[in-house]
Amino acid sequence: MYRIGFGTDFHKLEFGDGLWIGGVFLPCEFHSVAHSDGDVLLHALVDAMLGAMGAGDIGDHFPDTNNTYANLKSSFFVHETLSIVHAKKYKLVNIDCVVHLQRPKLSSVKAEICNTLSELLSIPLANVNLKCKTREGLDAIGKSNGWAADVAVLLEASS
Ligand code: MG
Repeated sequence: MYRIGFGTDFHKLEFGDGLWIGGVFLPCEFHSVAHSDGDVLLHALVDAMLGAMGAGDIGDHFPDTNNTYANLKSSFFVHETLSIVHAKKYKLVNIDCVVHLQRPKLSSVKAEICNTLSELLSIPLANVNLKCKTREGLDAIGKSNGWAADVAVLLEASS
């Protein structure tokens, strides 16, 4: 049996020293305003995995009112969520991701992000896909006031 999940996340951008994107730090003129490291891609990934299991969302499992989770790297949330996936006897098949960011361009780190996601999730690189979209200078993302990510995942029941 297969189960599909979808996750989305948005964070405000302020001027800063860089962004965590899919577990990779990209030095740039922005900072993602968040309780954790503000990695929208990993947050959307966690929500997608939880969604596929019918297990709620990132806020249910890692509430930002709990200071245990403050300033943590988002890879922690991915590892914790992956253990839920495995405990429920699911296997992660593939992920398809979109990062919405006006600038900087992600072409220089796209391969590193895919490699990192493949390692974080223990799935083949061929099962990780990443697309990067600008907003043509329009809306909050286009004006670099925020950025977002969408992730779809497929889980397969392993039993
Ligand atoms: Mg978030």
